[in-house]
Amino acid sequence: MLINANEEIVKLRMPVLLQEYNCCKCEKCICDMMAIALNNIKPAYVNTAEGMLFKRINSMLPQKTTDIDIEILKAINLVSAHPKHPDEEPKAENQ
Ligand SMILES: [Zn+2]
Repeated sequence: MLINANEEIVKLRMPVLLQEYNCCKCEKCICDMMAIALNNIKPAYVNTAEGMLFKRINSMLPQKTTDIDIEILKAINLVSAHPKHPDEEPKAENQ
């Protein structure tokens, strides 16, 4: 099957990086973050069997994570500064 390995890496790294942020983590914001990050990261399509996917991604991770993390962090900052929804989710921000 054809998959965008970079998209899979974003999906793996996003929750890890978000843990360190005290920002809105609703589905809407996370989708926005994903969209922004993925639009800024060149796709890396690979043709791989489903069972091989994880192995394939793991082998790509070390050299790719840094670049991808940078784009994810940019997206997190952008979206958390300007969430698209009104402040309906009461999230205590004590900063
Ligand atoms: Zn939100």
